[in-house]
Amino acid sequence: MMKILILGAGQAAVSMAAKLRGLGHNGQITIIGDEAAAPYQRPPLSKAYLLGQMPQERLMLRGPDWWAEQDIELLTGTTAQHIDTASKTVMTTAGPVAYDQLALTLGATPRQLPDEIGGALGGVHTIRNLADIARLQPELTPERRMVVIGGGYIGLEAAAVARKLGLEVTLIEAAPRILGRVASPETAAAIRELHLAHGVEILESTAISRLEGEGRVQAVSLADGQQIAAEIVVVGIGVSPETALAEAAGLAIDNGIACNSQGRTSDPAIWSAGDCASFPWQDQRIRLESVGNAIDMAECVAANILGAGQDYAPKPWFWSDQYDAKLQIAGLNGGYDQIVTRHGESPHSASFWYYRQGRLIAIDALNDARAYMVGKRLIEAGKTASPERVTDPATALKDLL
Ligand code: NAP
Repeated sequence: MMKILILGAGQAAVSMAAKLRGLGHNGQITIIGDEAAAPYQRPPLSKAYLLGQMPQERLMLRGPDWWAEQDIELLTGTTAQHIDTASKTVMTTAGPVAYDQLALTLGATPRQLPDEIGGALGGVHTIRNLADIARLQPELTPERRMVVIGGGYIGLEAAAVARKLGLEVTLIEAAPRILGRVASPETAAAIRELHLAHGVEILESTAISRLEGEGRVQAVSLADGQQIAAEIVVVGIGVSPETALAEAAGLAIDNGIACNSQGRTSDPAIWSAGDCASFPWQDQRIRLESVGNAIDMAECVAANILGAGQDYAPKPWFWSDQYDAKLQIAGLNGGYDQIVTRHGESPHSASFWYYRQGRLIAIDALNDARAYMVGKRLIEAGKTASPERVTDPATALKDLL
């Protein structure tokens, strides 16, 4: 009976294991993860869970009985140290584990500021796992001064939570605008306005030179010499895919663990999925950092481990909650040459539609779930609604389908 070993115990691992059982695999499945907790959802860590509005049990991806019911062996608190591809064995802190097929769902690790510029000072935080939140949450008390470095989703969501908890917040973005990597200037402007209205100070095109303090951070020095007082710093400057184990095992690495269109790595017995895996898509190689990708790619890989031979066709979607606003994104906007705005029914709702050579490729919808659903359905079906119809208030959303 085929033994399947999954390294990494996040969303992709759980989705893959569940799919393997769902497809009728009845051989051994083992998941190994280095965190102490059973697999949990990460998105709430920078939203409701950080705010203290969600108990830890609700983060758990599966209840405590599920593992035994599904006959899935879960080894938490265990680190995989080395993959021996010749003997098909993984050395772990709990001893060697043999496999027939191995899947790497190792995720990604937050980039840190270098120690030389104060990255290791007390009061400096990243947000990725439960231990990070256990350290950060007790620090979030009213009127303290927090500086957020990085205007991506982590930074913006952390800023929103901190404002709700009554902290003073300054957000610093090195690039000319927030959300530069993931959203259009139009979407970024709407999100900027939201934060300004909630009292966040936003500094764009602003480089930091170092974090100041003895033992604990006290201020952030900017490249222009200015200093901003800070008792807490949240660093949200992106993530690096976890490739070290794969690289040491001699697997091909290319912006992540390089997979073919079916999620197989350069070793025929090793697969990968989720944040750590790159795969071919429309003449390029991409890596998607999202829960939707972790689930869909893992399920596709599960089927392929069992011989389905399916290509992975991502249907990218993302969301972010900030204050009472909900941003929903479908598609990938890379290479867009036109963007149009459709105003929603309420004053705080709008959607931004991205086109490349006249074809709809992505939508960002702010407080407009109906526009999001319509845009997502069009994009997933490879259909387009013309910019003229999208922006015409007389055209009902459902008529765009
Ligand atoms: P991110 O989306 O890559 O954003 C990082 C931001 O920090 C970028 O705007 C980046 O600008 C900026 N930056 C980089 N170095 C900087 C520096 N030294 N000083 C100031 N700004 C700097 O990553 P993230 O926000 O850290 O999020 C981490 C991961 O979690 C991502 O995969 C993200 O998608 C995911 N996540 C998603 C959600 C969601 O979907 N709602 C929520 C939280 C986290 P440049 O692009 O110019 O480098």
